[in-house]
Amino acid sequence: MPVIKEYYDIAVIGAGHAGCEAALASARLGLSIIIFTVNVDSIALMPCNPNIGGTSKGHLVKEIDALGGEMGKNIDRTFIQSKMLNKSKGPAVHSLRAQADKSEYSRSMRRVLENTEHLTVKQAEVTELIVEHGVCKGVKTLSGATYYCKTVILCTGVYLNARCIFGEISNNIGPNGLQAVTHLTDSLKAHGVEMFRFKTGTPARVDKRTINFDKMEEQKGDERVIPFSFSTDPKNVQIDQVSCWLTYTNEKTHEIIRKNLHRSPLYSGMIHGTGPRYCLSIEDKVIKFSDKNRHQVFLEPEGLYTNEMYVGGMSSSMPEDVQDAMYRTVSGMENVKIVKNAYAIEYDCINPVQLSSALEFKKIKGLFSGGQFNGSSGYEEAAAQGLMAGINASMKVLGRNSLILDRSEAYIGVLIDDLVTKEIHEPYRMMTSRAEYRLLLRQDNADLRLRKYGYQIGLVSAKQYHDVFLKEKLIQKEIDRVEHTYLRISEDLQKILQEKNSMLLNSGSSLAELIKRPELDYMSLSAVDLCRSYLPQNVQEQVNINIKYDGYIKRQLKQVEQFKKMEAKKIPEYIDYDQIGNLRIEAKQKLKIYRPMNIGQASRISGVSPADISVILVYLGGK
Ligand SMILES: Cc1cc2nc3c(=O)[nH]c(=O)nc-3n(C[C@H](O)[C@H](O)[C@H](O)COP(=O)(O)OP(=O)(O)OC[C@H]3O[C@@H](n4cnc5c(N)ncnc54)[C@H](O)[C@@H]3O)c2cc1C
Repeated sequence: MPVIKEYYDIAVIGAGHAGCEAALASARLGLSIIIFTVNVDSIALMPCNPNIGGTSKGHLVKEIDALGGEMGKNIDRTFIQSKMLNKSKGPAVHSLRAQADKSEYSRSMRRVLENTEHLTVKQAEVTELIVEHGVCKGVKTLSGATYYCKTVILCTGVYLNARCIFGEISNNIGPNGLQAVTHLTDSLKAHGVEMFRFKTGTPARVDKRTINFDKMEEQKGDERVIPFSFSTDPKNVQIDQVSCWLTYTNEKTHEIIRKNLHRSPLYSGMIHGTGPRYCLSIEDKVIKFSDKNRHQVFLEPEGLYTNEMYVGGMSSSMPEDVQDAMYRTVSGMENVKIVKNAYAIEYDCINPVQLSSALEFKKIKGLFSGGQFNGSSGYEEAAAQGLMAGINASMKVLGRNSLILDRSEAYIGVLIDDLVTKEIHEPYRMMTSRAEYRLLLRQDNADLRLRKYGYQIGLVSAKQYHDVFLKEKLIQKEIDRVEHTYLRISEDLQKILQEKNSMLLNSGSSLAELIKRPELDYMSLSAVDLCRSYLPQNVQEQVNINIKYDGYIKRQLKQVEQFKKMEAKKIPEYIDYDQIGNLRIEAKQKLKIYRPMNIGQASRISGVSPADISVILVYLGGK
């Protein structure tokens, strides 16, 4: 049977959040790209929560955008509500979250893919990897067609041997009734790839005409919307927004769940995959937090085109009749009609320790991967890895150095470093607490931290790079001015202090010292800072944060200096740990698996002690 044979620079397997970023980045760098999906109508599908961003995830989206990725722009085009979370807390945890019109989000991303030069979109199931002498040479599809390429990027998400389960019902299908893919896992295993079986779950979707919103708390979007993308003009995102609604489960809900726990696939042993600890099903919440008499439930619109509402906080895999009963105990949902049942999904993914920090397989050269396939969970985590895998697969084809972001530069650096150096036993979800240098890794300064890399790679234009360069100059100049500005005591100043319940002054004060007061900030003192010239909002924000948190930022920069020293101590790629006499056996075993790039990374591997690190340093002769 004659089969198709085609040649590309890069093949991307999967058009989910990871695959889209990987393919766009590579095509925009001028390489010929083919991207596969089992269904082109499911490009950038959001099979679970209808929102992008949130705590730490908003940081990832901003970083993707600063590097030249697409997710930030796409949500700015398709959001229906936007909110800055944690505004009452410090800037390190301020996080943007936007509700998306799901089908618009998918259509918009498809439009971008289909109109990107050098990019071919193909609906086909990839069934096999072509690997010769440890080097990946291409892929084959179900039809036997062969696509030869210089590198391959696997972004298969939750589709590998996917199984959807609710109650006693189990189906070998992917999300939203899409087909599962059933051949590729065997091919990966045949090439020595170690696989995991993970699980995640989603709540029911209900008909909004059957909800009594009077019994719920309306959750409105922010009056002034801040866009995700640094390239989006804020004027273009001030739209009429839809609301979300807050309600709660109650003892009746919990009672129904307890009574039917034996029928839950989670507790009956029907589900084998490991689920995310930070995205618990309602069953798990009721059992694990039995002291709580209610759990928050957020009703979120799936889009402007539908009456479907996502029941956030109540993901489940309970049988249909139990779902019906438990959802109807929730205040405002007494007469609710379920459009789509809640379900759990199991799927194959890899143990990410098999990857280098460039997201390339250590044992199969030219094979890269990103997204849920790497053991993470979440659209944003997937997109961040997809972008980096796309960049580094392209750098490999172009014979250029990989882009590795370290833990002090980006949440993306934390995400990838955790995946490739930490043992993960459940889907990995990003959180601000994972980023030790989070005061420096704020969402508001992602452009200042990462635009330069996007420009060096070739995904950020000279104009965008120059704009950030100018912004940086403006910020620094204003910080210098503020630090050298002394305010004399005056009626106006005392009046502001009074209004802000801040201690009145006996004599003049430096402007910077005043800004550091918790009740005050750079903006609230503008009336008495007569030498101040007009500065854009985003510059004012940076000046305020850098002055206000000056001490904390300086301390964290000191810690980063230490961190960078350890990261700079490289470990030769082909080091033979068996040759290092005093190294403990456990450390040898771990180091041979993880093969860390530097001393810093080695020190983060569990089972490698500080004493082992000293032994390695001596062995490397303090090189
Ligand atoms: C039911 C459910 C519940 C979820 N719940 C949560 C949650 O609570 N919290 C959370 O953070 N995340 C959740 N997620 C995960 C979230 O959807 C994913 O994190 C995200 O979609 C991952 O993006 P991705 O690009 O890695 O993969 P996906 O979005 O899954 O996309 C994979 C792509 O690969 C394609 N593909 C796969 N195999 C092949 C093949 N062999 N040949 C051709 N094409 C192929 C598919 O067609 C698809 O285009 C849930 C997902 C599901 C399905």
